[in-house]
Amino acid sequence: MKIENYIRDIQGFPKEGILFKDITPLLNNVEARQECLSILVNSLKGQKIDKVVGAESRGFFFGMLLAQELKAGFIPVRKPKKLPYETISASYELEYGTDRLEMHTDAIQKGDRILIHDDVLATGGTAKAVCELVEKLGGEIVQCNFLMELSFLNGREKIKEFPVFAALTY
Ligand code: AMP
Repeated sequence: MKIENYIRDIQGFPKEGILFKDITPLLNNVEARQECLSILVNSLKGQKIDKVVGAESRGFFFGMLLAQELKAGFIPVRKPKKLPYETISASYELEYGTDRLEMHTDAIQKGDRILIHDDVLATGGTAKAVCELVEKLGGEIVQCNFLMELSFLNGREKIKEFPVFAALTY
């Protein structure tokens, strides 16, 4: 079972010059999904996780599977104005301008052991913003993991103070 066979390259989506890594074939296959989940869980080497934080929106899919497998809570980090309760926010750079991500203020208790998950690590801006949110609430980041890393974009550099794992590297 090679999980890379379930990642589809889409040239020019959502705009010209981007090679989009489409994970929908992976989501749609039980064995590939299980293999991917096992790879991510094994990378933790039995470390205890209290809560998994998933980044909107493709970080929710495996984020939730990881939380279930690890018997941990799940926390959605969302784009502005989507979360109904009191939030904290962190901004991050886009190609043009900035955007923000939000998390509920009561999602993490001080000292909680946190796993951060997203589908793709590209420039690292998203992951860095999520790390900031977790640290603002006193969470301890055990690992940031990803289905894949686009290593030529150097995203690891932005979150170098934390352990980073990617199931696939391009
Ligand atoms: P970044 O903040 O640059 O690390 O970008 C990471 C976020 O953008 C993730 O939430 C990904 O879902 C998305 N993303 C960035 N580049 C790609 C790509 N080439 N294919 C699919 N998703 C991407």
